[in-house]
Amino acid sequence: MSCRIPFRRVDWATSSFLILTAFAAVFATPVYLWYFGFTWFPWVLFGVMFVLTGMSITLGYHRLFSHLSFKAAWPIRMFTLIFGACAFENSVLAWASDHRKHHKHVDHDDDPYDISKGFFWAHIGWIMFKLHPEPPLDNVKDLERDRLVMWQHRWWRWIAVIVGLALPTALGYWWDPTWRGALGGLLIGGICRVVAVQHCTFFINSLCHTVGSRPYSTKCSARDSFVMSLVTFGEGYHNYHHEFQHDYRNGVKPWNFDPTKWAIWLLAKFGLATNLRRVPAEVVLKAEMAEAKRQGESRLEAIRRQASETPQAVLDAIQRYLDTLSANYRELEEAVARKSRVSKETIARWRQETREALEFLARTFPGNPGHLDDPPSRS
Ligand SMILES: [Zn+2]
Ligand SMILES: [Zn+2]
Repeated sequence: MSCRIPFRRVDWATSSFLILTAFAAVFATPVYLWYFGFTWFPWVLFGVMFVLTGMSITLGYHRLFSHLSFKAAWPIRMFTLIFGACAFENSVLAWASDHRKHHKHVDHDDDPYDISKGFFWAHIGWIMFKLHPEPPLDNVKDLERDRLVMWQHRWWRWIAVIVGLALPTALGYWWDPTWRGALGGLLIGGICRVVAVQHCTFFINSLCHTVGSRPYSTKCSARDSFVMSLVTFGEGYHNYHHEFQHDYRNGVKPWNFDPTKWAIWLLAKFGLATNLRRVPAEVVLKAEMAEAKRQGESRLEAIRRQASETPQAVLDAIQRYLDTLSANYRELEEAVARKSRVSKETIARWRQETREALEFLARTFPGNPGHLDDPPSRS
């Protein structure tokens, strides 16, 4: 079997760190538990550090620094810079630079974690292999003016080691002043937590560009995944995020599980966050309706190709749904262009009609064109 790994391009320091920490998490933790038995304190450290580090990435690195979706007081910036560093995901300056390129060039060659190069590349490969020449940090000039950001850029490795690894080790020792306590703090509160936070972040770049729904746009590969939102503090609504990247919410619907959005909203209530950017409900709905219309048209076209097998009643019903969608869309488009408010009742009705159209389309797929014997009659 030929080996196709481009060894000359491997970033050995980063790759060793990623592999060794993953091995320690998967193999050394069970050995530790078998040898010393289960104790709850290291897992409390894991949980607390997972939330602090993970939220610093989502709220700080991502929504605050990369997308400027709100403004934050310096203690919040400081806190997220310190705990964000503890995820060992580079300085915020480099992270934001990569991420802005990802949004600008998504699914293309200049996207650092381009999913079209494969799941492994988008997940972790892009970090393990160096690019020659290394891309410049030329899209983060605004962040370079922030002295806290530049301080973190210089010292992030030290911060990560001291706060991300030494602190849980010290706390483990404080709770149980033996080797068992210190090792439990390091292994579970430090290393396992780093691995967990890192792979949750990486899955947004890999899984959320592979599996899930695309209710807002099919222009790019980004997808919405409720399951991923559960472990990434709301970052799983990635299709919405790619369509409206400056919105401080990723889960835009009130019922979406997005703890980062709730935290930012709460910070605003305490005066620690301001200028929260929101996309108006009409604009969000316009994107959803445009996408539903596009899906409907392509579905109708696919079914028409097999027209002989498809009951005319089904075709007529799809056409009626499409007519309703188009009429609603035109009305909404005009309202958005005029910047006039649309009543909540009208938005709710349009939403309901869009949902019904999508549900109907989902049941009339080309592989089973006669599936619906009894299409609902609509005016
Ligand atoms: Zn993405
Ligand atoms: Zn983003």
